[in-house]
Amino acid sequence: MNAEQRLLLDAHERLAAYYEIDRWHWREATPSLDICLGAILVQHTSWVNVEKALANLRAAGAMSLGVIEALEEEKLALLIRPVGTPLTKARRLQVFAALVRQAGGFEALFAMPADELRALLLSTPGIGPETADVILLYGARAPAIVHDAYTARLLRRLGVGPVRDRYNDWRAWLDEHLPPDAVYRRQHHAAIVIHCKELCRVRPKCGVCPLLDVCLFGQALAPAEAVALNVGARL
Ligand code: SF4
Repeated sequence: MNAEQRLLLDAHERLAAYYEIDRWHWREATPSLDICLGAILVQHTSWVNVEKALANLRAAGAMSLGVIEALEEEKLALLIRPVGTPLTKARRLQVFAALVRQAGGFEALFAMPADELRALLLSTPGIGPETADVILLYGARAPAIVHDAYTARLLRRLGVGPVRDRYNDWRAWLDEHLPPDAVYRRQHHAAIVIHCKELCRVRPKCGVCPLLDVCLFGQALAPAEAVALNVGARL
C-alpha cells in the first residue's frame, strides 16, 4: 500500500467516524428503481428537488418503470417538474425504462458483466459517465467508481489525485487506490459528498474538520483565516 492509498483509507475512516454515513439518501436497502430514477433526475439539480419529483411520482402511482414508459411525456414531465428541464428528463426516464424492459428487468440488466453494462448505459441517451457509474455502484451493486466535483475538490485539497482532471483519469486513479469492495466504495463516495456539503465547501470550515492535520489546503490557511472561514460551523 502506498502513501496515497494510506491517506485515502485514513481519511475515509475519519469521515466514517465523524458523520452518520447512513443518513446518505441511498442505503444498502434502497431499491434499484429509486436509485436509477434519482441518478437520472439529479443531473444539474439538487437532491431536494429530486425528492419532490419522486414524491410526485409516488403520489400519482407512477413509481414503476412500466407506468413511466406508458405515461404521456407531458404528464410525466409535469410530475417531475421540480428537477428542471422536465420534458428532457421525462424522455430520459422513458428511454431508461425501455432499456430495462428490453433487458428483461433490473435483475437481468444488472447480471451483465460490469464493463458491458457500463457500455450499454453510456450508449443510452441522457446517461453520461457519472450517471452510468452511479447506476453501476448503487443500482447494480458493482464495485464501480463514481467520480464527481466533490471528490475532486476534497482530494485535490488533500493533495492527491491523477495528473489530469478528466473523468476517466480520476476513475482509473480511484480504481487503483480504493479497495475493490462495492460496499466500501459506496460508503467512500457517500462520505465525501456529505463532507463536502457540511465542511469542505467552496468556503471550507477547516477549523472543525476531522481531516485538518492531513490536509494540505487546510494546513496552508493562516490560523486567522481558518477561524474566519469557520463562522457558523457546526461544533
Ligand atoms: S481541512 Fe478544510 S480543506 Fe481540508 S478537508 Fe477539511 S474542510 Fe476541506
